[in-house]
Formats: sequence, structure tokens, C-alpha cells
Amino acid sequence: MVPKAYRILLVEDSEVHAELIRESLLSWKAGIRLDVVTSLAAARAYLADHAPDFALIDFMLPDGKGTDLLSLERKKGEFPAVLLTASGDEQTAVEAMKSGALDYLVKDATTLSELPRIVERTLREWSNIVSRRQAEEALRRSEEKYRRLFANMREAVAVDRVVYDENGRVADWVVTDLNPAYEKVFGINRQTAIGRRASALYGSFLDLEPLLQTVTRVIETGRPEQLEYFYPLSQKHILVSFFTMGDGYFATLTRDITERRHMEEDLRRLLAEQEATLNAIADAVIIYDSDGRIRHMNPAAERLFGYSPEDRLMSIAERISRFKIETPDGRPFPLEDLLRRVVAGERIKGSVLAFRRSEGREVWLSCSAAPIYTEDGQRIGVVGTYTDITSLHELQKERDLYLHTISHDLRTPLTVVQGYGQLLREALEKERAGASLGMMCDEVLKGTQRMKRMIDALVDLARLEGGQVEPKASTLLLGSFVQQLVVRLERLRLKGVLDTGRLTIDIPPSLPPVLADPDLLERILLNLLTNAMKYSAPETPVRLEARRNEGEVEIAVIDQGEGIARKDQPHIFERFYRPGEHRREDSVGLGLYITRKLVEVHGGRIWVESDPGRGSTFSFTLPVSGLAVSAKE
Ligand code: ADP
Repeated sequence: MVPKAYRILLVEDSEVHAELIRESLLSWKAGIRLDVVTSLAAARAYLADHAPDFALIDFMLPDGKGTDLLSLERKKGEFPAVLLTASGDEQTAVEAMKSGALDYLVKDATTLSELPRIVERTLREWSNIVSRRQAEEALRRSEEKYRRLFANMREAVAVDRVVYDENGRVADWVVTDLNPAYEKVFGINRQTAIGRRASALYGSFLDLEPLLQTVTRVIETGRPEQLEYFYPLSQKHILVSFFTMGDGYFATLTRDITERRHMEEDLRRLLAEQEATLNAIADAVIIYDSDGRIRHMNPAAERLFGYSPEDRLMSIAERISRFKIETPDGRPFPLEDLLRRVVAGERIKGSVLAFRRSEGREVWLSCSAAPIYTEDGQRIGVVGTYTDITSLHELQKERDLYLHTISHDLRTPLTVVQGYGQLLREALEKERAGASLGMMCDEVLKGTQRMKRMIDALVDLARLEGGQVEPKASTLLLGSFVQQLVVRLERLRLKGVLDTGRLTIDIPPSLPPVLADPDLLERILLNLLTNAMKYSAPETPVRLEARRNEGEVEIAVIDQGEGIARKDQPHIFERFYRPGEHRREDSVGLGLYITRKLVEVHGGRIWVESDPGRGSTFSFTLPVSGLAVSAKE
């Protein structure tokens, strides 16, 4: 175990002794190098450059004591040292050991001849000292690491000692250590807690029984356990893990889960609210995942579709193959495709579908669907609602019939009355009948005219409300469209009702084309123009203007008539609304409502600005067409 070139320092001023020592050591082993210096100063100089493996130092040197060398110089590089003395008195021995020498030798012939054995023994002792020191150092370091971890952990940690009762049962525990996080979570001060019993610390506000039971099991089985409870002192929900540490000690690691608990409670409440809301909804609501599998459905949906739990796990294609699902005009309804589009981010509103249930009953549904987003914008599924519109659909069918009756059965006799009235009027004129007969006849004709308008309005109303009016939009140049309309009106000579002579038109040629159904647009314009002329003095002008406003064209009909009272303005577009003061006999209160509906089916808006006594401006918008218009228009 002697390393190669084992370096021994000998500090000795007596040449005789130095020689004896040299002989003794060199006879001991090969590979030994002995460096001899004769004074304290020389030894210091030597130690400044070298680190000996072993040193033999004379106690009395010409320039001082050998012990000085040990206490100071050895700090730099540690080496085992043995002191040499001339006399072996007790005082020297004590001084030698104090300075850190491992042994001291009396310089006589016998001892010196024993030197190799003594050196070996000293080296063994030194090696023991070194390994003990290393072990101590390792322990110190690991303890320090543990301390640092303990102090900085976010989890609350405590180490406790079990207290047994006379029957050997776990009766209590004593707190032996705890970290700052523990102080925070438990609202307890380290100084006051350490050394105290749990019963004294927590017993007054906490039921310790379940904790004691857990500690008992953990100590007995050696297996860690967890316990969740509410800690009233700091009003916290905590999760405590118990570990045994042996010798009747155990440790606890506590996590504050108050926030998590609150979140869970909120979530539970939210889910309960959601569930209650879904249950209360009369419409069928189904929540799909992004693969079209059903995650949740409300009772209305269960009643409507009758899906079994297995059906819910099916892919949507498999599931819908069980029903015959069609669009109102009898084509297969693209439910699967629709859901795929919604999963991709689209929204569907009011798509009508008809499906035949397994028992054969036909059900009409209006279906809407929207994607479900998480907070960070991820699409995770689809919510679909299905409203049973079967009875509405039946009603609609009835209404269609009713509409047909009104429009045909009622209009036909009216046309007859009107025709014969016209003939009668002409005959009376020819016969030069009295003015009063002519006037009576005119009244009959006016009445039928009015009745016809009313019937037309009611039919329009029914069709619009039944969603039966679908605009056949084409790209129109408003300027030429209005011009053609005026020409037609002039030809019809609707003087009195619509006097084109009062009309001024201001439509800039640069106006972009609009997207509109020509028939519906004509009705919008006629309604507004008729009203403007009807509710203003015959000699006043009526203006028709149009201008572009971003993606829309704004069209305004301006009159200088009686205007509309402020209180009536917000209601003017409502169904059957007629301002009270000057209700006219030929007024039904449907014209503006129908006009609004007609504007809305084009995706436009309509509004009025009116100054009572000075006139009104009715404005509406139409979308600008993205298409260019051919020259003939
Ligand atoms: P109707 O003309 O059949 O009464 P409308 O819906 O067209 O039905 O008009 C509703 C009411 O709004 C009218 O009764 C009238 O009082 C008022 N009104 C409509 N247009 C004008 C206008 N240009 N100037 C003044 N009042 C108007």
C-alpha cells in the first residue's frame, strides 16, 4: 500500500539521529524517498514547494519548536506527522498531540530501529482518520442539501415522532421539524411547534382520529398513504402524504389544494347548471366530439332520436344510416357533411330536415350547429340543436292552402266586380248619367282597388313570414333599373297613386351594381314611393337618391310631406302599425313591414329619419354585387 516514490520529510538537526533514521527507513521498503532538512526555516521552505506523504519532525530545532511547523504549515496540505523528542516527558507528549501529531517517539536506538513498524501503524491510523473525515464531510454535505431542500420546498414538510400509549398504540405525535412552507400552510410558527404534541397544537380545532389511524397504518405497513382534509385554522383544503422514517418517526408532505378544490367545485356547479339548463330545454341538444361521436344529449334529444348508449359511440355515418333523413324538397340531407363543416369551424343556422323515425312517423326538424372552442381557441366538438317543427310544418301546409284560397278564390270575384264596375263607369259616361251616379261608381271602384291592395298585402305577409320568399338575386345597375321602372309607371298612368311627374331621381352613374331580386326591389321602391306621395302634398317633389357606402348601396326616398311623429318613428316598420292621429281609411299598416322584410331577405337594413311637418327620408341598403354587369343593362 506504499505508493511509488513515497516521500518522507525528516526535520532533524542531529546528523547522528538523521543517519540512524535514514538507515532504519531505507531498510524498510524500496521506493522511499527521504528529504532531510535541519531547521524550522528550511522545513518551511521545503513545505512551500512540496507535499510530503509523511513527516518526522524533531521537537527541539535550532530555530524553534517542531510543533509550530505542524499547527501552521499542515493546513495547506495535510500529511501525517510524528514528533521526535530527546526525552519522553509528559509535557512534550501533550504538546505533540495538541499540535496534531499522530504520535511522538523518543530518540533512542531501540525506538529508531522500530521506526518502520511505527510509521506503518501511524499510516494506518492516518488512513482511518482520512476516511472518517471524508465520511463526516459527505454526511455534512448531504445534511446541508437536505436542509436546503427542506427550507425551499413549496410543499409543507414536517418530521414527527410517534407517541405511544401504555398499550403500545399510537396516541399522539411530537413535532420534531418543519419547513417554512409548513408554517405558511398551517399558520403555525416553527419555534412554538417544535417539541410540542399534535394534540396540543391541533387538537382544539381538528379531529385527529383519522390522522392517528393513518399514522398507525403507515408505521405498521411501511407503505406511504395520503389523506385529504380541510384545515380550519388557515381555511385550506390540504392533501397530506405520510411516510415512515423508521425508529417511530414519520414525515408528512402537505400540498395546498384549496385552489384546485375551488376550481373543482366551480366546475361541478357549472356542470350541474349546464345539465339543468340542457334538461329544461324543449329542443333536442346534442354535444358531439370532433369525430361526430355523441358526448352528451339532453332528454329531449333522447326522446327525439331514441339513441341507445351503443349508438352514441358509433360514428355519425353509421348512426344516421338508421334514419331516412331528407331536405324539404326530398333530397338526402347532408347531416354528416354538415357536421364535418361545423367541426372545421362553420356555423349552421336553421337548416330544415325531415326524417322518418324507426316506427315510421315523419318528423320535421330545424337544425342549427356551432363549433365548441376551448379558451385557447382549439375546436373540440360541436353543439347541435334540433327543433321539432313538425306541427309548424303542418301549419305551413294549411297556410299554403289558405293563401291559395285568398289569392285565388277571393281575388277572382273581386276582379269581376272591378271589371264590371269599370264597364259600368264607361256606360254611365256614355249615357251621360248624373254626376252623382258617376261618383257612386267611382267609390265602388276605389273600394275594390283598396280591397285588392289589402288582399295583396296579406298574401305577401303570409308568404314572407312563411319563409317562402327567396330572392332570385341578380346583378342590377340601379340607374337604368329605376329608369325602366319609371317608364313603365308612366305607361300605366297611375296618376294619383304614383305621380311620376313629382319624382326627381339622383343616381350617380359611377354607382356600383347591386345584388337584388328585380321583382322584390320593384316592390320595395313602389311601396316607399307610393307612401312618399300619399303622405305629402301633391305639388311637393319626391326625391329618389342612391350612394355607395362601403360594401353597400344606400337608397333614399325623400319627401316633403307631413313627416312622422318622433314617438311613432321606432314603430313604423312594425306589423299593422298605423300612427293614431291621422289614420287613413286606405291604410292597413302592412306596407312598411313588408318593405322591411323584403329588404331583409336581401341582407339589407331599412330606417327612417323624419322631421314632423317637414318631411321624411326612408333609406335602405342593398349589397354591392361582386360581379361586373353586361353593357345591355
Ligand atoms: P299603410 O300605408 O298601409 O298604412 P305602411 O306600413 O306603408 O302602411 O305605413 C304605416 C304608417 O306609416 C302609415 O299609416 C303612415 O302613417 C306612416 N307613413 C309611412 N310612410 C310615410 C311617409 N312617407 N310620410 C309620413 N308618414 C308615413
